[in-house]
Amino acid sequence: VLGKSLAALAIVRVFGRPLDVGLTIAASLAQIGEFSFILAGLGVALGLLTKDGRDLILAGAILSIVVNPLLFVALDRWQRRRAAAGATRPAERAPGPPVPSAGHIVLVGFGRVGERVGRRLHEAGHVLALIESDRDRVDAARAAGLAGVLANAAAEDALVAANAATARALLVAIPNALESGQIIRHARMLNPALAVLARAHSDDEVAYLLEAGADAAIMGEREIARSMCESVDGLSRYFARVDAGTTAPAG
Ligand code: AMP
Repeated sequence: VLGKSLAALAIVRVFGRPLDVGLTIAASLAQIGEFSFILAGLGVALGLLTKDGRDLILAGAILSIVVNPLLFVALDRWQRRRAAAGATRPAERAPGPPVPSAGHIVLVGFGRVGERVGRRLHEAGHVLALIESDRDRVDAARAAGLAGVLANAAAEDALVAANAATARALLVAIPNALESGQIIRHARMLNPALAVLARAHSDDEVAYLLEAGADAAIMGEREIARSMCESVDGLSRYFARVDAGTTAPAG
């Protein structure tokens, strides 16, 4: 209960997910796994473990299964207390610029893709409203001058909070195509004139996102391949110049 939960919590935090996500996953994995019964059975069969030892493992399993729901109750209470404390301390983090009222671009996700898109468009003078579910990422966007809504964009009111109904475009830069499809469908209902671009990882996802209402779906892998080919074209021209003696080879 303790070791596996702590390991799960540590892994989730290393991947940059919030503490309450880590604690939920830790609580979900707290009870003993079926694999231990297989190991215990093998131990008894090989004569490495006594039958009493196996019974102790079984007793431990029953205890961990009993304790598990209590962990969820404790987690639920902690989350409620935390939410209540947050509600009484609203000014702890900087709110950032207000969400634009109309004519802006709604960006979903401020990770590896969204951050690059957001910063570049902001520098080029575009007005953006970000929707991001990770508080630290929202803070980073606000520090960069973007208006940020802390929410899961697939939730009913997130697009409303970002004024998507009066926005010019929607850029969905999250990796999960199913969620993206849901966000796009909802956005289309709010604003049929919205220009919608989405991120995809496969041809199937491209087709799914177009069907959901995206005007274009950009597949990361295809763009990497295109960029590699362009680099090879550049290299070929460079080597042709080196072969012709018009350019000295670089180090
Ligand atoms: P990356 O895959 O590195 O581009 O990161 C994706 C970003 O999108 C992360 O910062 C996530 O927190 C964020 N994200 C993923 N799903 C959602 C969602 N449904 N709503 C808002 N933000 C999301």
